[in-house]
Amino acid sequence: MITRLSHLFLRTLRDDPADAEVPSHKLLVRAGYVRRVAPGVYSWLPLGLRVLRNIEGVVRDEMNAIGGQEISLPALLPREPYETTKRWTEYGDALFTLKDRKDVDMLLGPTHEEMFALTVKGEYNSYKDLPVVLYQIQTKYRDEERPRAGILRGREFVMKDSYSFDLDEGGLKDAYHAHREAYQRIFSRLGVSYVIVAATSGAMGGSASEEFLADSPVGEDTYVRCLESGYAANVEAVVTPAPAPIPLEGLPEAVVYETPEAPTIATLVDWANSADLGWTVTAADTLKNVMVKTRLPGGEWELLGIGIPGDREVDEKRLEASLEPAEVALLDDADFTANPFLVKGYIGPRGLQANGVRFLVDPRVGTGTRWITGADAHGRHVVDLVAGRDFTPDGTIEAAEVRDGDPSPDGRGTLVSARGIEIGHIFQLGYKYTDAFEVDVLGENGKPVRLIQGSYGVGVSRLVAVIAEQWHDEKGLRWPKGVSPFDVHLVIANRDDTAWSGAEELAAALDAQGLEVLLDDRKASPGVKFKDSELLGVSTVVVVGRGWADGVVELRDRITGESREVPVADAAAVIAAAARAR
Ligand code: ATP
Ligand code: MG
Repeated sequence: MITRLSHLFLRTLRDDPADAEVPSHKLLVRAGYVRRVAPGVYSWLPLGLRVLRNIEGVVRDEMNAIGGQEISLPALLPREPYETTKRWTEYGDALFTLKDRKDVDMLLGPTHEEMFALTVKGEYNSYKDLPVVLYQIQTKYRDEERPRAGILRGREFVMKDSYSFDLDEGGLKDAYHAHREAYQRIFSRLGVSYVIVAATSGAMGGSASEEFLADSPVGEDTYVRCLESGYAANVEAVVTPAPAPIPLEGLPEAVVYETPEAPTIATLVDWANSADLGWTVTAADTLKNVMVKTRLPGGEWELLGIGIPGDREVDEKRLEASLEPAEVALLDDADFTANPFLVKGYIGPRGLQANGVRFLVDPRVGTGTRWITGADAHGRHVVDLVAGRDFTPDGTIEAAEVRDGDPSPDGRGTLVSARGIEIGHIFQLGYKYTDAFEVDVLGENGKPVRLIQGSYGVGVSRLVAVIAEQWHDEKGLRWPKGVSPFDVHLVIANRDDTAWSGAEELAAALDAQGLEVLLDDRKASPGVKFKDSELLGVSTVVVVGRGWADGVVELRDRITGESREVPVADAAAVIAAAARAR
């Protein structure tokens, strides 16, 4: 196809949109790829839609290659299935819900585990039908708290979601690994640089869930990796190595001290070092007791105390991930008034537990470790409070921040952190949904077999932004071949009639080779046309310009910036070879 810029539904903008912070958002709007309709809701204009479709094509190709079968479920869904799995409430405020004219609750699907489990239940009933992988490339809805960076975090977005159903765990593992490899091929074909990180602690057996994170300084996900061992994990998934228990015999007695001016960790450390305890105290020797309240969906708020070494802060995301599906909030003044045993600045484990407050500790607070901490009375701290002797926590919690230099959970080096954008997620779900809907088939021995499910997502529309983010330069967008909205952007930069008709002929010859050609046939100055070609970012640019009189055209690679002259006689063949995706 030849698309003429003179007719293309496109307006490029000179200025960055006022609400844009990250480069991909600025450029996709300026270059006329997308337009904002509401927060986190965007229209796709011709160029953007072409890129989106190209990405979809690669994803579809690789899903078909692992035997996935494409179907399409509605986005508008009934409440009941989500009620059955409790996600109607557990999904929280991010769920877009609505009522129909009969006042019946409905929702706009944020992800479709329920519906795929029900679909398989509806069609299949024998072990002979399994295994099966079904997928869709479909619009999803999530009322994100912070829609961000244009299409990077939308409230309406396109996801490829697939679901595997197997007779046993071995089958699930095979489907999981097939997806893992398909995702590696997808992201490498799309030219995305990424890492695979463990998304859950691995308590369920190694790689129950992994995320694909695109490297990007504007990413919202922080992950850590160990350069020595290759370990990589989402910060939420990092498991703190616990120290071996220390024998309690012979440990010094806990002693309460008057510490009138020490309500903070820093002042407490100063006090401890002036009190001549016989050793040099650092913040890591103190136990900081952070108070929060948690609430299960539909439940009441409950107090929770969290004990972490005083040199660390609570990481909100890790805390939330550890407590899910319960929500968590800080205490307000009313909570302190209602619970007078909470003495701000002097809260200690014993006072909390004596008042029935659940108390969880960082894994470093192991049996036999000694702490300086609050003594539950104003102006008092206790020294040598020993875990497992003077107090017994109700369990451990991964809530403390992970820092560069922390030991890697695999014991083979230290951690360093980096930022990324989640582009894919693969998950060995297990029986959660098939149990909820009793998705059984008749087994080989005539007995019912419950199916085991996997779920796998790719952020298709997000990838448009991710690729723009990773590939752009200061002049504009730059698309890798195969993603680019056109194969060739042919710029006519010569007023001469023969050059004009020569360019038309060249465009026709490229079209005949099966290439998608964007022909800049506008009556604008060469300068304007070049600037636009840089902004739009088509991977291969051809200029019919001054050289035409000498029998050459210019072939530019938008990605490497290289340019060379090609004789008009072989131009079509040379350009086609250069522009082809593979
Ligand atoms: P995030 O942590 O970024 O909110 P998620 O873990 O909630 O993502 P999943 O439920 O795993 O996302 O969805 C599968 C994929 O869909 C994600 O890996 C991501 O690429 C994409 N995705 C999720 N939410 C959005 C969104 N609001 N806008 C665009 N793409 C999204
Ligand atoms: Mg995810």
